[in-house]
Amino acid sequence: MADNRVVVYKGPGEVAVESIEYPKLELPAEVASGLGIKRAAPHAVILKLVTSNICGSDQHMVRGRTTAAIGQTLGHEITGEIVEIGDDVLFHEVGDICSVPFNIACGRCRMCNEGKTGICLNVNPARAGAAYGYVDMGGWIGGQAEYVMVPFADFNLLKFPDRDQALEKILDLTMLSDIFPTGYHGAYTAGVTTGSTVYVAGAGPVGLAAAYSAQLLGAATVIVGDMNADRLEQAASFGCATADLSTGDALADIIADIVGEPEVDAAIDAVGFEARGHGRDAAEQPATVLNDIMDVARAGASLGIPGLYVTGDPGAVDDAAKQGQIGVRLGLGWAKSHTFVTGQCPVKQYNRQLMNLILADKAHIADAVNAKAISLDEAPESYAAFDQGAATKYVIDPHGMVR
Ligand code: NAD
Ligand code: ZN
Ligand code: ZN
Repeated sequence: MADNRVVVYKGPGEVAVESIEYPKLELPAEVASGLGIKRAAPHAVILKLVTSNICGSDQHMVRGRTTAAIGQTLGHEITGEIVEIGDDVLFHEVGDICSVPFNIACGRCRMCNEGKTGICLNVNPARAGAAYGYVDMGGWIGGQAEYVMVPFADFNLLKFPDRDQALEKILDLTMLSDIFPTGYHGAYTAGVTTGSTVYVAGAGPVGLAAAYSAQLLGAATVIVGDMNADRLEQAASFGCATADLSTGDALADIIADIVGEPEVDAAIDAVGFEARGHGRDAAEQPATVLNDIMDVARAGASLGIPGLYVTGDPGAVDDAAKQGQIGVRLGLGWAKSHTFVTGQCPVKQYNRQLMNLILADKAHIADAVNAKAISLDEAPESYAAFDQGAATKYVIDPHGMVR
């Protein structure tokens, strides 16, 4: 029965909205057979999507830079209304509007018990950790759709306390599924605190969320670096200093001009493996940002690295990079005793408190990332605009509940 629609990867540079089956309360076959667990999922709910955002992480797949197969469904930034509920969901009900962490987590394994929901052991037979609509992440159906299934719902869902208030602030709240916690995690794990000087590499939505979060944590100065002028202007719009890397000037010199020394207390990689070298139209250099942040972070710093790195990249610049080996100058970080914090953001560690800030009118993340609501049918053109570097975070609104 084809009564759901979802965004699907159709090959490099191409996505389309296609019809698929309405979701069922069951695990992906890959997860059930791979882990030897039963497929029926009475712990799951079906959500009617309220919003589902397009992410830089989706772009890695859509640019053909992962092993994603054609037909891969997309969408891991999910906010929705419960329309169907399994028998074993005890603490939610139909009608609740909830944010869904992009990490799928069982709530029952050793990692979940430690709060490390980005590396849950029971949701992906291939490796630790899973996500909706993502290559190598367990085969869970994507949520850039009309409806989606969310397993282990009591553990995964964050319910908004008031429906009307939630819909009023939905463009802020929709960022709780990924980029607001992810940006916050980048800043927090980089040790940003009252009075810190901070460098954030990348002025995409994650970099902007990291910069905004650094301000929430009390940073004295936040410098955002990118080559994209519109995105740098977006960072400046909420009080960040900017490092225009298209000029080819050395990053340490730019930083010295702003804070009076060529180093910062804390540095964050919000770019990942598709990083380009400095200068206008520079070629891709996947380790540039890691090398930059080791260069400009003070000795003893912790480096927040939400930017994504892969184990396989068919479109990489050379054979080593095709295996994810990318010229990181580790000796520099070693000599400065840097700590590296990598991996998926464990969204559940942050989403409730960040929700409270939004509901108390103390965090305006939608403005910081320039959120824009679009229809599901506008997804393909919005993917293209985002790929071209639009300073916009696109929020798919499949049922017209937002626009
Ligand atoms: P994006 O592609 O929109 O933004 C990346 C930005 O980096 C672009 O504006 C680009 O111009 C800029 N850039 C390229 N090379 C640079 C360099 N050398 N120095 C500074 N800037 C440079 O992506 P996004 O949505 O903002 O996401 C950023 C990264 O975070 C992606 O790799 C994404 O996959 C990852 N991510 C990770 C998590 C996690 O849980 N760890 C969650 C969400 C996103
Ligand atoms: Zn995302
Ligand atoms: Zn788990």
